[in-house]
Amino acid sequence: MPPEPFFSGAGLDRADLVRGDPAALQMLRSRDDAMELAWADGLPVIGDDGRLRWRAAEKPDLFLGIDGDAPRFSALQQYVGDVRAAFATVGLLDPVEAPIYAAALSLAGWHSRHRFCANCGQVSEAVRGGWSRRCPACSAEHFPRVDPVVIMLAGHDGELLLGRQPHYPPNRYSALAGFVEVGETLEAAVARELHEEAGIQVTNVTYVASQPWPFPSSLMIGCTARAEARDLTIDTTELEDARWFSRAEVEVALSGDPDAAFLPPPRTAIARTLLEHWLLEEGRVRL
Ligand SMILES: [Zn+2]
Repeated sequence: MPPEPFFSGAGLDRADLVRGDPAALQMLRSRDDAMELAWADGLPVIGDDGRLRWRAAEKPDLFLGIDGDAPRFSALQQYVGDVRAAFATVGLLDPVEAPIYAAALSLAGWHSRHRFCANCGQVSEAVRGGWSRRCPACSAEHFPRVDPVVIMLAGHDGELLLGRQPHYPPNRYSALAGFVEVGETLEAAVARELHEEAGIQVTNVTYVASQPWPFPSSLMIGCTARAEARDLTIDTTELEDARWFSRAEVEVALSGDPDAAFLPPPRTAIARTLLEHWLLEEGRVRL
């Protein structure tokens, strides 16, 4: 089985048809088995068993979807927790529940930060079970944002380029990444970011996997690319360091060996999935 990124998976049945049907939505809200996600300190509550906590629906503002047959909601949140608070607990989450957590956190966070119409400045209102907001003054409809980010491994002659940002734990190295800009393809974004941050030229940009990253609303798009040469020119405003690592070094690092050449990214990060994927694929396809 190819490795799957954390936060990916089936999650809830999003039941899009229900969102646009106020009567059907109202029927789901009033059902005895309608449940609402529990929140504390601006984050969904994760129990000791790694599962999300639910309670009887009291403020079913956001329709998250259907679990088997049972409707699942969340109340709108005044405040949604920051990344640091979320990182302290998200590793405890059962991977099966992770896509539900990602959707709920991004959706509730978007509502808490986008209460006003971007077109005319009036207070807008949540519609379609919370999957958009409509402005009562100018009728503009606004949708939850998704910010595409490319994250990529560049390979050269069987080695991989990884970098570290100043805020990483000691000796952690990970895949380079950057936001896709308007008017840009994914391939161009991968090539641009690798050139800006590490000074390398790449070809053969290939998509591997994607991951919703709800801090607050990114979509990580994991790719590989082939570097034309090894020489690096590191942009030290973005990266503290970048280096080439051999297959053996990557293998030892992922095995959890404390004497490894570097500390790999955590299992919640798609960068780790990309490294696992590379180890599996490198025997067949050389970057
Ligand atoms: Zn408006």
